[in-house]
Amino acid sequence: MSVKNEPTFRESVDLMFNRAVSLMDLPPGLEEKIRVCNATYTVRFGVRLRGHIQTFTGYRSVHSEHMEPVKGGIRYANSVNQDEVEALAALMTYKCALVEAPFGGSKGGLCIDPREYDEHELEQITRRFAYELAKRDLIHPSQNVPAPDMGTGEREMAWIADQYARMNTTDINAKACVTGKPLNAGGIAGRVEATGRGVQYALQEFFRDARDIEQAGMQGTLDGKTVVVQGLGNVGYHAAKFLSEEDGCKIVGVIERDGAITNDDGINIENLREWIIKHGGVKGYPDGSYTENGAAVLETECDILVPAAMEGVINLSNAERIKAPLIIEAANGPVTAGADEILRKKGTVIIPDMYANAGGVTVSYFEWVKNLSHIRFGRMQRRQEEARHQLVVDQLEELSKAMGNSWTLTPDFKQKYLRGAGELELVRSGLDDTMRIAYQSMRETWHEREDVQDLRTAAYLVSIGKVASSYRAKGL
Ligand code: GLU
Repeated sequence: MSVKNEPTFRESVDLMFNRAVSLMDLPPGLEEKIRVCNATYTVRFGVRLRGHIQTFTGYRSVHSEHMEPVKGGIRYANSVNQDEVEALAALMTYKCALVEAPFGGSKGGLCIDPREYDEHELEQITRRFAYELAKRDLIHPSQNVPAPDMGTGEREMAWIADQYARMNTTDINAKACVTGKPLNAGGIAGRVEATGRGVQYALQEFFRDARDIEQAGMQGTLDGKTVVVQGLGNVGYHAAKFLSEEDGCKIVGVIERDGAITNDDGINIENLREWIIKHGGVKGYPDGSYTENGAAVLETECDILVPAAMEGVINLSNAERIKAPLIIEAANGPVTAGADEILRKKGTVIIPDMYANAGGVTVSYFEWVKNLSHIRFGRMQRRQEEARHQLVVDQLEELSKAMGNSWTLTPDFKQKYLRGAGELELVRSGLDDTMRIAYQSMRETWHEREDVQDLRTAAYLVSIGKVASSYRAKGL
């Protein structure tokens, strides 16, 4: 969606990379080695549909194999092309390094509008694509592990996992060949919400440091902040839902494919989501004003702007008019390199994609570990933990009795304290920890180095540093 005179998505990522490495002391050879995509495989395959053969074009790009398997989603969209897949694969490398998920970066895509096919047709197409990739180890538990991305979800991942298992009947770790599977097909609790949850945790961490809040010219906490979300897909929906239901944010604008809904009193995300599912768009939603010109809503006054749809939506044509002091890139690459420069000069704080949307791959990592260990998280400890907590509660209640019941434990405390952590609680805890630590590493670089003025550069510095030391240790 970038405008004329702007670099392509991949060039944009390279420009941001170059800005960061110019502040590092890397040997030029290593710099080049890290920047380039190792390989991009293009496949054209035919599927017989509706009485004739249709040819599809798909890609799987591997950016960096400094750690294996390589990891990254598979996208279904008409706009998929080699440049985009390579840009996204590069971002996966940096993303995984930043959140310490032990993977190299990869990405896949299929040029298709999934809405034009029924479920059975999509299954045929997905299985055939998976077959083509698995045949070349581009789907493999120890080599290359795809996941959902735009236009794909649990359903497609289940087909891919099954296709791989059929081709590798004796592989005991077959389920670990792909993540983002449904729970009943080897998935993990909390994967669907993970990216949106990660956006929430990222903002919570941002608001824990007065310096960061001040940099954005803001005050206070997340409570009461106004938010505009672009894209109410899996990521945007969960981010908006959690921010409004749990953190007190007011969602004042939602931009979708067919236009936008605005409401200064706040939009109920559940209701709007239901409306979209039923009517195919936001038009006609009764609880707010509708405008067909969705892009204009990106420019409305709000505290936090959450682009959660496509790349390149904030570009040279609109960057100057963006008013939000804080942007969190829930999508990959929503701000072009040119727009990034304009926004930086304006003092807008941008929480960059490689960090902001890393919640998905983080929980994918947990799912992969779960698949390889063949046991659900919490299965061994949960009841033991509850029994030990029960001991403490019993003892305290004895004590209370002995003191004439002058104090008691509230039922709410008892209920919360006694409950042992199941898989969902553990996944959320692991994700929260990951998002906090990764943010803190960016924050340290941002505030401590005078030559680093923005979080994106800080994120690149931290992640490139990690990739570089991994290459150095291996002795390239
Ligand atoms: N497609 C997601 C991303 O861009 C998730 C990747 C994964 O879980 O491997 O980060």
